[in-house]
Amino acid sequence: MAVDATQPYDDSNIFARILRGELPSKKVYEDEHVLAFHDINPLAPTHILVIPKGAYVSWDDFSEKASDAEIAAFVRASGRIAREAGLVESGYRVLANTGPNSGQEVPHLHLHVFAGRPLGPMLAR
Ligand code: AMP
Repeated sequence: MAVDATQPYDDSNIFARILRGELPSKKVYEDEHVLAFHDINPLAPTHILVIPKGAYVSWDDFSEKASDAEIAAFVRASGRIAREAGLVESGYRVLANTGPNSGQEVPHLHLHVFAGRPLGPMLAR
C-alpha cells in the first residue's frame, strides 16, 4: 500500500526492522548515520537502497527534520556508494519516492540507486 508521507514514523516498518537486525539484508555500506543494502527485488542489474539510520518517513520528513550532520552523511554516502560500486563512468540514477503519487511503499526514507544498463526514460509516458 502506498505510504502517506505525512504520517508519524512507524517503527515496525521493514527497514526499521533491518536496522535493528531483526531482518537480514545484503549490506553494501554502513556508517554512523547511514546503511545501504541491495534491494530484494532489483529493477536493474545494480539496485541499492541507501537509508538514514534515523527515524524519517520520507524525503520530506528527512529534509525538514534531520540534522545537518545526518543530511551531509546521507548525501556523501550515497555518492560514495555509487563511486565505490564503479557506477560513475557508465552512469546511474538516484530516486526517492515520497508519498502516494510516487508509489512509496516502505515508510522509512530510502534512496534507490539504479545502474548497470541504460535506464530508459525518467518516467513512463
Ligand atoms: P518504494 O516503492 O520506493 O517504497 O521502494 C521500496 C523498495 O524496498 C522496493 O524496491 C522493494 O523491493 C524493497 N524492499 C522491500 N523489502 C525489502 C527487504 N526486506 N530488503 C531489501 N529491499 C526490500
